[in-house]
Amino acid sequence: MRSVAYDCDVLVVGGGIVGLSTAYAITRAAPGTRVTVLEKEAGPARHQTGRNSGVIHSGIYYRPGSLKARYAVRGAAEMVKFCAEYDIDHAVTGKLIVATEREELPRLHALVQRGRENGIPVRELGAAQIAEYEPEVRGLAAIHVGTTGICDFAGVARRLGEASGAEIRYGAEAVAVDRRASLGVAVRTRAGDVVRGRVLVNCAGLYCDEVARLTGDSPGMRIVPFRGEYYSLARASLVRGLVYPVPDPAFPFLGVHLTRGVDGGVHVGPNAVPALAREGYGWGVVRPRELAGTLAWPGAWAIARRHWRYGAGELRRSLSKGAFTGAVRQLLPAVTEADLVPAGAGVRAQAVLRDGTLVDDFLIREGVRAVHVLNAPSPAATASLPIGREVARRALSALAEA
Ligand SMILES: Cc1cc2nc3c(=O)[nH]c(=O)nc-3n(C[C@H](O)[C@H](O)[C@H](O)COP(=O)(O)OP(=O)(O)OC[C@H]3O[C@@H](n4cnc5c(N)ncnc54)[C@H](O)[C@@H]3O)c2cc1C
Repeated sequence: MRSVAYDCDVLVVGGGIVGLSTAYAITRAAPGTRVTVLEKEAGPARHQTGRNSGVIHSGIYYRPGSLKARYAVRGAAEMVKFCAEYDIDHAVTGKLIVATEREELPRLHALVQRGRENGIPVRELGAAQIAEYEPEVRGLAAIHVGTTGICDFAGVARRLGEASGAEIRYGAEAVAVDRRASLGVAVRTRAGDVVRGRVLVNCAGLYCDEVARLTGDSPGMRIVPFRGEYYSLARASLVRGLVYPVPDPAFPFLGVHLTRGVDGGVHVGPNAVPALAREGYGWGVVRPRELAGTLAWPGAWAIARRHWRYGAGELRRSLSKGAFTGAVRQLLPAVTEADLVPAGAGVRAQAVLRDGTLVDDFLIREGVRAVHVLNAPSPAATASLPIGREVARRALSALAEA
């Protein structure tokens, strides 16, 4: 079968931070490996990677031993180094996690333990000490996490792509995949081009389950898209750095937070509401085929049944600015509705199993001549360098067997 003319050795679908980090890791680990990245948009990082909170997470939240914990802790340190080396905007700011209700105190304490188990420096603060860091923030107690930072993840993705030496084809949406165990993979793009590789790597983010199915693999999960809406704070001086609530452990989202980004502006958000399209950045964006796909997945209904109370609160805060402001005021009493100016939104690619389990950890699965990244939600931007190395390791071993 040597007569097949391959365009590349590894064909990566998806030019977000995970796909580009994978391309970078492959060419670092095995120089000379030919990598092609297919990205449907006109540039890198147009979806999750370019529409997030821009926070380099410390790793405090994640179960010790999980991929999220290991890769976030390692990835945060590596991300800071990468940004310094490539001159990308970043800062290690530290952050506060603030309990505003008594019932949150045991959860705050559990986070301190978890942080210590994950090797993260944490300082416990009483109500009065919160003002040392954030004079306008109110709470009963807080913790300060020193290793949290901020950066420009879209800039990181761009530099990873450039430094990888991969061929990156923009405007190239993979719409069909022909995989033969003995031959390799041939991907057809919407424009009708066919690109051939020996091994396929699926880093398609919000569409990773669809790309897995196109390849002929059954992913056993489905992406259920959750939109997060942001406001920017008109009186940015109210917040110095990063302020988070204590997260609800039943849900894999961190709650509405206040983050001063690398541009100096303060973002407030995101909430978590069901998106009516995978790239549905507003209520007006509805893609009936995608919505029908979500509704046909039993897991989506199981989530709705299990989390309806939480979901109703999030919906209320999405539809009413007053309700959203009220929630923010718990942390930042001085904020008014007029301070909150609507900003962009992002959609999270959350993998959900058939029984409604929200997949908590990163999920990477292999098929014949294929590696699929099936769950890479937050903190995957922070953890993208270790994730990329792991995906690259698997792709290179598939290449060796091919
Ligand atoms: C609201 C929000 C806030 C977040 N905050 C943080 C944070 O502060 N810190 C953090 O570490 N993480 C955060 N995250 C998570 C982080 O953004 C993601 O984990 C990360 O960006 C995932 O990267 P990705 O490459 O897997 O996905 P994406 O960036 O979505 O990239 C996937 C790419 O695949 C392309 N694609 C899809 N289908 C095809 C196809 N068929 N053919 C060709 N191309 C295709 C898409 O166009 C896209 O560019 C947040 C996420 C959201 C949504």
